[in-house]
Amino acid sequence: MSELVTEPRMLIDGKLAPALSGRSFANVNPATEEVLGTVADGSAEDMDAAIDAARTAFDRSGWADDLDLRIRCLRQLEEALTKHADEFRATVVAEVGCPVSLTRMAQYDTPVKGIGWVADLAGSYAWESSLGQSEAFGIRTERTLRREPAGVVGAITPWNFPVQINLAKVAPALAAGCTVVLKPAPDTPYSATLLGRVAAEETELPPGVLNVVTSAGHEVGQQLSEDPRVDLISFTGSTATGRRVVQASAGNLKKVFLELGGKSAHIVLDDADLSAAAFAAAFQIMVHSGQGCAITTRLLLPRSRYDEGVDALVEMMRSIPYGDPTDPATLGGPLIREQQRQRVLSYIRTGVEEGARIALGGGVPAHLPKGFYVEPTVLVEVDNASTVAQEEIFGPVLVVIAHDGDDDAVRIANDSAYGLSGAITSSDTERAMAVARRIRTGTIAVNGGVYYGPDVPFGGYKHSGVGRESGVLGFEEYLEAKVIAGAC
Ligand code: NAD
Repeated sequence: MSELVTEPRMLIDGKLAPALSGRSFANVNPATEEVLGTVADGSAEDMDAAIDAARTAFDRSGWADDLDLRIRCLRQLEEALTKHADEFRATVVAEVGCPVSLTRMAQYDTPVKGIGWVADLAGSYAWESSLGQSEAFGIRTERTLRREPAGVVGAITPWNFPVQINLAKVAPALAAGCTVVLKPAPDTPYSATLLGRVAAEETELPPGVLNVVTSAGHEVGQQLSEDPRVDLISFTGSTATGRRVVQASAGNLKKVFLELGGKSAHIVLDDADLSAAAFAAAFQIMVHSGQGCAITTRLLLPRSRYDEGVDALVEMMRSIPYGDPTDPATLGGPLIREQQRQRVLSYIRTGVEEGARIALGGGVPAHLPKGFYVEPTVLVEVDNASTVAQEEIFGPVLVVIAHDGDDDAVRIANDSAYGLSGAITSSDTERAMAVARRIRTGTIAVNGGVYYGPDVPFGGYKHSGVGRESGVLGFEEYLEAKVIAGAC
């Protein structure tokens, strides 16, 4: 892999800049615990300047009305991020701790390609459509539905898939004609500052259209959610923070769009090929060491085949390589921070206290003395009411729950505050599809089907979110609807 490229500066009003206070903070590699470099520690005055720039650019630059410029800028962005892919890949791996293999997919290449999909959509989108004529109060009227940009967008993102999530917000918001203030997670600032640098140096984006504000703390996120100059907040993160964002945004009744946590169930029906089910379950929980909102973290096995299923699962998990994220064979790397590792280990202890048994792992791997690693862990004999079955752990910890047939499996899967994703494995596709239709969730995979892609709306039911990201539905989150009624 190439040498690390770092970018310590924020992007505010078209200029790459340090924090006005001059302060910066360290960006730590979770696999080596070494400092990669520093980045601007933005505070209230930097955020204020960024919001001001975005407001001014939306109201006065003509960006909102210039579709050709928007499409051109998006194509320039895609081209530049593609050109720099190999340089940026090393940085993403180093700051996220994600396996380099995943940067060929959701951690870099796929979201960058997705910018082109959004540009194409904006080019073919029906910005105005006729609702036909009507006759009311003796007046004949031609009605036109017009879609317009929502305004200034505050995009607040987490650390687990930073390139994917930053671009899933920035690209459709810009395509829609909005201007953006991007506030990335403190743990993964370079994924955002490098995007800012490329936008400033290699695209024609007018000043203020895209702004990036990094900060060691979360206060600037709160400020962005509260500010009355912001029209819409697009948030991805935990459900607890999502609630705070909704409360903060109430002042000017912003549109709020939330992608939150998950505790998704993989239901294995009693006719399933258990080795295929074990492979899918092990692969899911090992990918990025369980640090994904849509990962299926509850495995529901038929009681009659429970022991057989657990044996297949444990064997499969033992065979999947984890460790050094720069090794192309690795599928799971470290957790993002020591605090997150302690949280995951504490959940494992709670699971055992509440009656679960550890069938694999449960601790810190002795062969990885540096980095925030947790062993791939399987908890069995888990009650769905227990803490480890109800709360998001965000580590490589799979809980295995017994079910007594299709109805019972549906009941258990739906007995969750969340509803983000899920999976069904069965040798009977029709039966699996029937079960899939009964799960209250935003996405669900049947027999290994893949729902991920730029054209697919992604999001959750219940505490997993409000609204949809990506696809046409995701693009339309950044639009307002106006009806023009003209007497004719
Ligand atoms: P988090 O909620 O701690 O932080 C997310 C972002 O919110 C960060 O940028 C943070 O600085 C900011 N923030 C924190 N407090 C804030 C406040 N009061 N006001 C405004 N912004 C604030 O989440 P995290 O730990 O970074 O990410 C992990 C969580 O994200 C998990 O719960 C995971 O399920 C969720 N997630 C969801 C999706 C999805 O699409 N549904 C995708 C990825 C991650």
